[in-house]
Amino acid sequence: AVSRAPIWCPGCGDYGILEGLRRALAKFGAKNEEVVIVSGIGCSSQLPHFMKTYGIHGIHGRVLPIATGVKIANPRLKVIGVGGDGDGYGIGLNHLIHAARRNVGVVYIVSNNQVYGLTTGQMSPTTLKGVKTKTSPYGSIDFPVNPLALALSAGATFVARGFSGDVAHLAEIIEAALQHRGFALIDVLSPCVTFNRVNTYDWFRARIYKLEAVGHDPTDYEQAYKRALEWPTMDPQGKVPIGIFFRREDLPAYEEEAVKLLGGTPPIDAPLELSEDKRKALLNFLT
Ligand code: SF4
Ligand code: MG
Repeated sequence: AVSRAPIWCPGCGDYGILEGLRRALAKFGAKNEEVVIVSGIGCSSQLPHFMKTYGIHGIHGRVLPIATGVKIANPRLKVIGVGGDGDGYGIGLNHLIHAARRNVGVVYIVSNNQVYGLTTGQMSPTTLKGVKTKTSPYGSIDFPVNPLALALSAGATFVARGFSGDVAHLAEIIEAALQHRGFALIDVLSPCVTFNRVNTYDWFRARIYKLEAVGHDPTDYEQAYKRALEWPTMDPQGKVPIGIFFRREDLPAYEEEAVKLLGGTPPIDAPLELSEDKRKALLNFLT
C-alpha cells in the first residue's frame, strides 16, 4: 500500500496506536507484504492508509468478518484488525463474540475513546454513565459495554488493554498478541482530545496501573475476569488495569481447522479449479 501522513487531530490517541503497532511489527520481524491491516469506519479506521503493509479500509462494523476471510484464505499472513469503539462494540459487537468463540487468528486492536469521533462527538457504547456528549446532553444514563469481560465470556484466548499514552507498553502487548495462536483482543484507551473532554490522558494517568506490577497471572481465567470488572462505572474511585489479562495457547486457531477441512491446503495454494471433493468440503465449511 502507499503510505501517507496521518490526518488525525494533534494529540489524538490514535498516533500512539500507530506508533505502538509500527514498533511491534518491527520487533516481531514481519515484512510489509506479510501483513494485512483490516479496518472499519471511524477516525482510527484510517490507520491502514498510514502503513506500508497491505490494507483493507472496510465497511462500518465489519472488521472481523473481512479479517476472518483474509486469514482463512492465506493463514501465512499476519492479519490485524483496527477500528474504534463505535465500530467494534456498537454495530460490530456480535462479530467480536463470534471471532472470540471461533478463535480466529486475528489481532484486533480497538481504539477506545468512549465517543464517536469521526461524526463529531456522539455517545458510544463505552461512554461512561453520566458523561455528557452531543447525544447525551444531560449525561449518559447507560451502563457502558465492558469489552474485556465480554471477550473473556465469549471464549477469547488473548485479552489485553493498552493505553495510547504509554506507547512502549502498548508495543509490548501488540508484539505478544502477534505471537499468539488464535484471536487476540487489545482494547486501547485512546483519548479523543477533540470530543471527549472527560476521559483525557490525565484522567487515565490518575487511574491506570499495570497488571504485571501487581503479580497478575494471565493464565488464571478467574483472576482475569475479576480484573476485567475493575472499571470506574463499578467504583467511581476505581483503578484501571492495563496489560495482558488472559492468555492461553493450547487451543487451535479457526484457520487451522478450516485448512484441515480442506485437506491441508489453504485456499491461496489451491488450484483455481477445485476438485469435486474439495468443492464439497468448501461448500460444507461455508454453509
Ligand atoms: Fe482523534 Fe477525536 Fe480528532 Fe478523531 S476527532 S482524530 S478520535 S481527536
Ligand atoms: Mg470512538
